[in-house]
Amino acid sequence: MTDRRRRSDTPSAAALPDREVRDVQRRLLDHLKHGIGKDAGDATPHDWYMVTARTVRDLLVETWIDSLRQADHSDAKRIYYLSLEFLIGRSLKANVLSTGVLDVTCAALAVLGQDLDAIAEQEPEAALGNGGLGRLAACFIDSMATVGIPGMGYGIHYHHGMFGQVIENGEQREMPENWLARGNPWEFARPEVAYPIRFGGHTVEYRDQDGRPRRHWEGGEEVIATAYDLPIPGFGAWTVNNIRLWDAKASKGFDLARFNRGDYIEAVREASASETIAQVLYPDDSTSQGKELRFKQEYFFAAASLRDILRRFLKRHGDLARLPEKVAVQLNDTHPSVAVPELMRLLMDEHRLPWGEAWEICVGTFAYTNHTLLPEALETWPVALFERLLPRHLEIIYEINARFLDDVRHRFPGEHDLARRVSLIAEEPEKRVRMAHLAFVGSHKVNGVARLHTDLMRAGIFSDLHRLFPDRIVNRTNGITPRRWLNQANPGLSGLITARIGEAWKTDLERLRELMPLAEEEGFRAAVMAEKREAKERLSRWLAHRISGPLDPSSLFDVQVKRIHEYKRQLLNVLHVIHRYNRLWAGDDVAPRTVLIAGKAAPGYAMAKAIIRLINDVADVINRDPATRDALKLVFVPDYNVSVAERIMPAADLSQQISTAGTEASGTGNMKLALNGALTIGTRDGANIEIAEEVGEENLFFFGLSAGDVERMTREGYDPKVFVASNPALARVLDMISDGYFSPSDPGRHRPIIESLTSGGDRYMLCADFAAYLEAQDKAERLFVDDPDDWTRRSILTIARMGKFSADGVVMDYAREIWGVQPTHPAGALHVA
Ligand SMILES: *Cc1c(COP(=O)(O)O)cnc(C)c1O
Repeated sequence: MTDRRRRSDTPSAAALPDREVRDVQRRLLDHLKHGIGKDAGDATPHDWYMVTARTVRDLLVETWIDSLRQADHSDAKRIYYLSLEFLIGRSLKANVLSTGVLDVTCAALAVLGQDLDAIAEQEPEAALGNGGLGRLAACFIDSMATVGIPGMGYGIHYHHGMFGQVIENGEQREMPENWLARGNPWEFARPEVAYPIRFGGHTVEYRDQDGRPRRHWEGGEEVIATAYDLPIPGFGAWTVNNIRLWDAKASKGFDLARFNRGDYIEAVREASASETIAQVLYPDDSTSQGKELRFKQEYFFAAASLRDILRRFLKRHGDLARLPEKVAVQLNDTHPSVAVPELMRLLMDEHRLPWGEAWEICVGTFAYTNHTLLPEALETWPVALFERLLPRHLEIIYEINARFLDDVRHRFPGEHDLARRVSLIAEEPEKRVRMAHLAFVGSHKVNGVARLHTDLMRAGIFSDLHRLFPDRIVNRTNGITPRRWLNQANPGLSGLITARIGEAWKTDLERLRELMPLAEEEGFRAAVMAEKREAKERLSRWLAHRISGPLDPSSLFDVQVKRIHEYKRQLLNVLHVIHRYNRLWAGDDVAPRTVLIAGKAAPGYAMAKAIIRLINDVADVINRDPATRDALKLVFVPDYNVSVAERIMPAADLSQQISTAGTEASGTGNMKLALNGALTIGTRDGANIEIAEEVGEENLFFFGLSAGDVERMTREGYDPKVFVASNPALARVLDMISDGYFSPSDPGRHRPIIESLTSGGDRYMLCADFAAYLEAQDKAERLFVDDPDDWTRRSILTIARMGKFSADGVVMDYAREIWGVQPTHPAGALHVA
């Protein structure tokens, strides 16, 4: 292999040939001079970031072009991952590690008086997503490249990604995010890749040359979709895949001669209005706001992606009937599901295929991943909105539905209500298109993201569709990339692991099982413990200028980091913290603990924002109290994002995964924390159940209601007041919050939160789980304090048994079972270097 392929990723400058260091140094200075127009004396830290990124990008480009050419040449089936979100984070470290140039880059920068870690901090976050769903998309592209699947992600080139969060007077304030302000050195603009995307207008019927009636969509306005490409190298950089992000451009130039002064201004205004489509990511996690601009974003990116996919297919193949054989399109949630009627429209109206053939191609090409069963998150769009913006698609959806329901009535003649329930159109309270039903009917496979979630799909909202298509729903439990979440985030622990079992685990995570015997080795336990301590100190140092007061690295670091949502129950965590505070005051023997919470609330989600305020108010009182502050600290870490996650994961002792059973589809934060050696305290929900199966239930702390219990209690009538009345500790905690103990200047501030738990019915059953949660917390604490050595042993066993949750294995499973392709470089092939 040529020497641009990765060599190693542990710095060992001594072994480096001078020539290589000088070569990288020359490239850096070359970019500085010719790309930025400066010499080393004038370069700012950001300049150094730009030139380092460009230098690393140069190394990727050749393999990238090779990969694309190879995919074309081999005629391999192409995989397209359509996702409205890609939560990528920073790329410099990831790309340096993938290309194996860490040592030489560090050495070359050192000669120039620069430090790679400091430079990496200059990179803005590519935060083109809200949370788990967007991060999954980013992990999958990394894994597809690593295992050699020729995959491509399609998304939107948002000018403004996820908002920045600052905490002011305890409250979340959203700061506009502007990651492109100083240019993105990783991306390539492709202005020549441009597709007009239509909105509005009307449909006309006409007869083609053969006298057949056809329909055609015309009029309205057009927006141009234009491409930006982001190369994503697999580990070892044998394959470099691509994320193609669509930006929006006005379709009309300005004809200066035609416009008088007033028209000119109006024309510019109109043009920038059409460009608003790619302006901003919707910051809602788990709710659908139903905004028109969001609807346009969905169609815009689905339509541009399909146009691009068909163009590439038609370069090689004449026969569209072969599309499912050569192309798989994965729909990440329902956001791209308008792709189903769009592909039908392209096949019928533009390529003149009859309905039956077009439909077969469609279903053979698409597969759909469901991410949530929460009713408020399930997308539906008003028929009236389709009528106005996508009239042809509405006709097609009606036709899909008519044929589908005919079939349903034919197969189940006695069941009059069945057609109403499975219809793509909801009739009440207004006519709306059910996007999940559309995606389900238009796909050959529909997957849930953890076994419990998939079972609940079959039994719950998709039960009727499951009866109609019994082979369609399959499970593919989520995974994470071990490159970012262990190798990059936790170099200390990674080095320790590699020193003992080699580095094969980085592309074959099952190899971590070789650590199991080491869990019984005292020396290894001591080394892992020291590494955890070091990670906690590192996090404390980083947090030092963000929060007041140092953290105690010998205390138990208890971590809950994820979007703020009632179903994830950060509030239950806070209730426990207050209870500990009370116990400390009562003189109980309570071990020192640092509770870290981080996460963003959707800007319109009042209750989530109220919970952030409560966390900060409670932190304020507890952290100031001289009687307790040495034993209990509550920290809200602001602006949770991928880079902050990379700092927190290695430092966690305890991972809180405490969602109401049946509500968290999978979770992936649970996997990141466990892979870094945190023990889990959690409910039997999402992927927690499968993590327990792998690591052993004795090595985590399960508590509380199961999904079945929750369902039964809901059915039989749940009354939180019964639980409050029988639990004085809970009643006391609720009273303190309600009486303004944590908001003395505004005693009523937190009353609405408490009312949601009492008179409000406690939808997420915190009161029912409170007692069991305390018990599990005590059990965890006992182990941590009384037998730290055994804690570490369990922590090592946890790490060793996380192989199942590598996204590499997950995408290989998708490849075989859903996409019908075989990976070209099995992960094992990477070890020859
Ligand atoms: C992994 C990740 C998530 C998902 O966390 P969950 O605990 O699974 O909800 C959200 N945000 C960021 C930044 C992440 O890295």
